Amino acid sequence: MDFQKLVDVYEQLEKISSGNTMREILSEFFKTVPKEDLALISYLTLGQIASEYESVVLGMAEKSVLKAIAKTGAVSEQKVKEIMQKTGDVGLTAAQVLQKKPQTLVPLGKLTIHELFEKLHKIAETTGSGSQDQKANILLSLLQKTSPEGAKYICRIVLGTLRMGVGDMTVIDSLSIAYTGEKKNKELLERAYNICPDVGVIAETLAAKGLKGLEKIDVHVGRPIKMMLAQRVKEWEEIQKKMPGKIACEGKYDGERIQAHRDKKGNISLFSRRLDSVTDQFPDLVQYLEKQVSGKEYVIEGEVVAIDENGKLQPFQVLMQRRRKHDVAEYVKKIPVQIKLFDLLYLDGKSYIDEAYEKRTAMLKKMVKKSKHVVLADQIITDDLGEINTFFKAMLKDGDEGIMVKNLQGEYQAGTRGWNWIKWKKEYVGELSDTFDLVVIGGLYGKGRRSGTYGALLCAAYNKKKDQFESVCKLGTGMTDEMLEELPKRLDKYKVEKKPARVVVKKEMEPDVWFEPKIVVEVLAAEITKSPFHALGLALRFPRFIKYREDKKAEQATTTKEIEDMVK
Ligand code: AMP
Repeated sequence: MDFQKLVDVYEQLEKISSGNTMREILSEFFKTVPKEDLALISYLTLGQIASEYESVVLGMAEKSVLKAIAKTGAVSEQKVKEIMQKTGDVGLTAAQVLQKKPQTLVPLGKLTIHELFEKLHKIAETTGSGSQDQKANILLSLLQKTSPEGAKYICRIVLGTLRMGVGDMTVIDSLSIAYTGEKKNKELLERAYNICPDVGVIAETLAAKGLKGLEKIDVHVGRPIKMMLAQRVKEWEEIQKKMPGKIACEGKYDGERIQAHRDKKGNISLFSRRLDSVTDQFPDLVQYLEKQVSGKEYVIEGEVVAIDENGKLQPFQVLMQRRRKHDVAEYVKKIPVQIKLFDLLYLDGKSYIDEAYEKRTAMLKKMVKKSKHVVLADQIITDDLGEINTFFKAMLKDGDEGIMVKNLQGEYQAGTRGWNWIKWKKEYVGELSDTFDLVVIGGLYGKGRRSGTYGALLCAAYNKKKDQFESVCKLGTGMTDEMLEELPKRLDKYKVEKKPARVVVKKEMEPDVWFEPKIVVEVLAAEITKSPFHALGLALRFPRFIKYREDKKAEQATTTKEIEDMVK
């Protein structure tokens, strides 16, 4: 397919902020896309060239992109830099420079989606010394073959700033409408996407084998599965109603969720809750798992926590220091970790996701040889309230957040906050407060002590049904002076000119600055009240910043439904 056809669609999408209209345009377009291009277009529309978990990095410096633009437009690099300074966007710079391209520079033939994709991969594969020049040359060959608008999108894709406002669920929904004619099948697609979070594979399967093919999608070692999540309740009685009889209670550790995959060759890969590969961050953990967990091919889950030399649990902030690309070996020594394993999703040719939790944990127990660094999550199986209470208190004393309660008969609900797992945290006991994971969508300039930074952040919950972010509070307390000071550095890279697509805010709440929905913060709030000023019609009162949730993507934030359910 000619890339220009996709460019025409992007030109339309760029002007739209309604998620529904986006889906209409995309689904109409998908109907016209040849099967072999469907996966490529799905990735490109998300600003990617592979699924997210594959972490393919294009690795181009802005300078090299500007160089390629200058060469293509036959203008000086200085001139391109000046335009870049004015527009602040590499895409607009490319479009502007190439708009004025001399007549002699006619495009060198048509650029197809296939060629674009192939060359973008080439850019990613080119590494080592002199690679920036080589990358710029490949980019040049692409820019020479496309329109100024095409160049705008290509340059944004190579620098990771496409920001069309399209989320992965927007693409999945649009595929569903295009290929099955009905939104009704969205659930089936969502289920498949939860087990196989790769839009390309979903698109290809749908095109080649239809819905039947999607139904058969199952665990695939090496490809992360969206992690199962826990519900929350207000009163313990609700847990008893949802899960009568014996339940499993486990410590709820404040660490990082890890999904470990071991393939037949013995290679172990680790994925975070965002489904990013974190294998290089935890070489120690890979070694411990190699030694302590049996099974040729498996997918298991646990929470990784930092420990001291005596094995004592360290706070979350200590573990966060292990989130790094450099000096990994030094930090492996400095901050030892332990994994508390709790789930089994696959073992030696058999998928366990539809099996009962009782069977999954029992099987896991057989696989693990405990050591200082690999243990099973503390667990009791009981229906005795007194016993549960003693366990809960013991977990809090250990520094845990509370307990996880699990339905022994429940299956693994990938990517879902179902009722098979319920969290019971210390905040629920006695007080009315609870924590929410919210997406920062705007900033309000600070005054006085906070001038030069943001005084408050406009935060939103995720409306999963509508695939949009709806404002629920202005967050101004809970940050130290240092945190306030570093806010612009952390947030400004996500600054956008106008309200991003899929963001819903009432007029009264419009912030000074809009941010692309990327950063997730954990917020403690005392109450939920009705509010005409917030998009959801509900507001969180007395919100207080707790911490950044770098392990969560915007679409993994607390949902509007969860907040509505809490009010009910
Ligand atoms: P939340 O982020 O509050 O929705 O709680 C769910 C998270 O708790 C999971 O993603 C895990 O990272 C973490 N967690 C800690 N301990 C456990 C456990 N025993 N079972 C499941 N998840 C746990």
